[in-house]
Amino acid sequence: MSLYVSPRFSSHLADLCIMSDPLLCYLDHHGLSLDHCPSDPTKFRAVHARRHFSRGSTVITSQPLAAIPLPQTKSDYCNRCFKPDRLQRCSKCKVDLFCGKECFTEAWKEWHRYTCRIPTKTNSKPVPDDNDNDDLGLSNTIYGDGKLDEEMLVRVALALAVQRKVLAPPQKGPAAQQTDPSVETPVVTLSAFSTLMSHADLHPPSTIARYKTLARGAILNPVFNAIPDCDLSMLDLTTYLCRFRCNNFAVHDAQLFAIGEGTYPVGSLFNHSCRPNAVVAYKGATQVLRCIEDVEPGEEVVIGYVDPANGRAARRQKLREKYFFTCVCERCCEGEAGGVAFLDEMLGEAQTELERAQEMMNGTPSATQKWIEAEIRRWKQEQNKYDALTPQQILASSNPLTLPAFASLVLNTLVPAIYQTSITDSTPTPKTTYNDLLTALLAHLHARPAPKHVSRNPTMLRTLVTATRLFYDRIAEDAWDEAGRLGMYVLAVYLLMYPRYHPMVGLHTLTLAKCLWNGVVKGPTETDGARARECERWVGVAKWVVAVGFGEGSQVARELEELAGVVQRDGM
Ligand SMILES: [Zn+2]
Ligand SMILES: [Zn+2]
Ligand SMILES: [Zn+2]
Repeated sequence: MSLYVSPRFSSHLADLCIMSDPLLCYLDHHGLSLDHCPSDPTKFRAVHARRHFSRGSTVITSQPLAAIPLPQTKSDYCNRCFKPDRLQRCSKCKVDLFCGKECFTEAWKEWHRYTCRIPTKTNSKPVPDDNDNDDLGLSNTIYGDGKLDEEMLVRVALALAVQRKVLAPPQKGPAAQQTDPSVETPVVTLSAFSTLMSHADLHPPSTIARYKTLARGAILNPVFNAIPDCDLSMLDLTTYLCRFRCNNFAVHDAQLFAIGEGTYPVGSLFNHSCRPNAVVAYKGATQVLRCIEDVEPGEEVVIGYVDPANGRAARRQKLREKYFFTCVCERCCEGEAGGVAFLDEMLGEAQTELERAQEMMNGTPSATQKWIEAEIRRWKQEQNKYDALTPQQILASSNPLTLPAFASLVLNTLVPAIYQTSITDSTPTPKTTYNDLLTALLAHLHARPAPKHVSRNPTMLRTLVTATRLFYDRIAEDAWDEAGRLGMYVLAVYLLMYPRYHPMVGLHTLTLAKCLWNGVVKGPTETDGARARECERWVGVAKWVVAVGFGEGSQVARELEELAGVVQRDGM
């Protein structure tokens, strides 16, 4: 996303320039540096930590240059700050919603006085979109007809015009005052935006043609013409659209559902890894970049542009088509001696869209589904046997892994290293210890004989996809025991493919704990102590993951706190 080479970022120049470059100065203040990477041709620059960041800590928060709710969520959120409460429509256009007078006044100054129009039906033909959006990371063109791109273009042009005004030297009076280096000033945002790559020569010709049509439409748009001192050309606008495509973020809510799209130039400086040490979260429209592992000085801070739940080929295709690079992160390094480089070989690829459609058309459960259902029944019947198996016992057997044995092995190996096991154990497991455990586990899994049938392999993505679907089916059917088992299996695979404190792991563990609690409540009338304790254990795990991945005080943390209270009160 931030493939850009400039001599001013070459490392030996960085120190010289840092005091005069507001962006570098801003990053430096937050313990970060923007460096040239001559040794890695896939990334021409990278953001490195200059100090230690503890996992769960905030690296940087960013305001968007522009953020726009998706059409389907436009009436659920403030159109400026994305707050969901106390929404009122603008009394003039009766279209845009705001959370209060303050937000409306700011939005009016920034952009709404230009875009506030009584909606009219236009005869202009919609410009069809590319079919490229991501499920988790960065996204673009989620709108069906290019409207989002058009709106983003107008909003960014307005933001640039407004910010240029701020930047203009004062007519009279003393010279510009020294600004606070901790604040992302317009100079910082603009500086970051101007460095973002557009890859204009790499987008498919059909995309460029579409962007030219959109840019032409924008220039003819009366809103655009009203922008003061706007000297943006067709070429500028086409370049911006290219930049949006490979830099913009999907803004998501607490449950990780996409609710909008935003241009966050500072957030776009961070490179991608399929094993990220940082994640992007949102408080309304404010972007919060948080560490999910300890990051040491000199280490690169990386986020995920695509969901790590994709197989290697799928990730590679998405990254190449949208961001124009081939990932060489630790998980993508083929032929490496071990560690997470084994992961994708073991997971394989998920079904293609066509295969999935064929499976749906068939109407009969697939062989994988039948096998999973039988395994879950077996797990339930022989509960004690599987839950009591130690990793050593499972590894001692040379038979192919059953689904419950696989889940027990992964959960019993990795979960204790995620959370503090007792009050006296006050030092959480360091990243290195956790990585050693994971590496050893992956090596064992890799060395085991594969089952005879592909449809009976618990380590594969296609099994996970079917199990996830069954998990939500069982939840809908109130079949809590089976949902709980399926949820544990899904968590086991998540713990292999996601970093341990990734928000997806936190959210899933919370859902799992809820299933187990429903199993206790809706089960036999006598409160089942053992099951309540099991539920409490998963609430405990979820607390650790959520505290790092979402943060204390987040909506998910509050939801979890509520569940923990109920389990404490009614379960014991
Ligand atoms: Zn608001
Ligand atoms: Zn209005
Ligand atoms: Zn990778």
